[in-house]
Amino acid sequence: MQAYLDHNATSPLRPKAREAVLAALSTGNPSSVHGMGRAARAWVESAREQVAAFVGADPKAVTFTSGATESIALALSPDMEIDGRPVRFDALLVSGVEHPAVRAGGRFAADRIEIIPVDSDGVVDLIGLGALMGGRRALVSVMAANNEFGAIEPVRTVADLVRGAGGVFHCDAVQIVGRMPFDLENIGADLISISSHKLGGPQGAGALIARDDRIRIPPLLRGGGQERGHRAGTENVAAIAGFGAAADEARRNGAAESVHVAALRDRLEAGIRAVAPDVTILSATAARLPNTTCFATPGIAAETAVIAFDLEGVAVSAGSACSSGKVGPSQALKAMQVAPQIAHGAVRASLGWNSTEADVDRFLEVWARVHAALTERRATKAA
Ligand code: PLP
Repeated sequence: MQAYLDHNATSPLRPKAREAVLAALSTGNPSSVHGMGRAARAWVESAREQVAAFVGADPKAVTFTSGATESIALALSPDMEIDGRPVRFDALLVSGVEHPAVRAGGRFAADRIEIIPVDSDGVVDLIGLGALMGGRRALVSVMAANNEFGAIEPVRTVADLVRGAGGVFHCDAVQIVGRMPFDLENIGADLISISSHKLGGPQGAGALIARDDRIRIPPLLRGGGQERGHRAGTENVAAIAGFGAAADEARRNGAAESVHVAALRDRLEAGIRAVAPDVTILSATAARLPNTTCFATPGIAAETAVIAFDLEGVAVSAGSACSSGKVGPSQALKAMQVAPQIAHGAVRASLGWNSTEADVDRFLEVWARVHAALTERRATKAA
């Protein structure tokens, strides 16, 4: 029996999203005026409404992109127009636990990117943020929830601080949407980035969403006038249609899914601890996403554990699998000053819309075997 516990990497396609992708595959170009073009346009615009309703935004504020990485690269621009006036930011401030897409800094020069410190749970240090902003106009990017260990960031407070200091706040909301209730107005960010495949939509679609129309960002991709001039290039109609359907499903079922996965995750963690009382669960004392657990056991390397799980049909990942299965402690764990032996052992299990009790049973059955085999191997090596 297979068990998929890697929703933070990609959440399997929801049936409604699959239907929408297939139905939208044979349309024309949304910019064409004929019937096939208008059919394609209808898919894109209805997805825009679904995505906007999902996060509590105005559909006009949604710019479709190829995914969150592109959305973030578009958002992190040192030049913007705010209320019709050009603005240049002195610095880009990003938290130490951001995804590499944010740490890369978009169009900012490397010497303009500064790191906001975090505590040992990976939660951003608000005093540190205040000190970094002091007297400068900054663009600040702090994620709503972390992809590796699930810590939830105090983004509402960050938004108030940044705006109070005359800055602009971009929030990587990729992991929070669909996992917990989310509303753009409540979190107060000026800009958010989200991704279709993290919520059960297809890969290859994402969005940059603005709180209002005060901000204009120079496009990253120039050419045609698609997406109201924010992003040139023929829209990926099928992926966008699937994204819309997934967002709609997540809006309708998200609250129930969140309660369901929280109960599964708690059982999973209790089972992990029962087998390995010396386990460390990262960010255990912080507010966390209900679907994520990141754990490390002394002497068990994450990549060895992930392979052992995989051989038994259980999909989990080592630290952050978002960065193409790269092995090695992540920058985020380094920023949290996690001890190297813990960071090397960090295994992430993440649940989602189609997770079941049977997935947890299977994971725990395999965990007991993997733990016994790897601790025995370690004991034999040491002897
Ligand atoms: N931000 C976070 C927090 C993520 O987990 C990911 C996942 O890869 C991304 C950004 C990038 O998203 P995408 O795969 O849509 O480019």
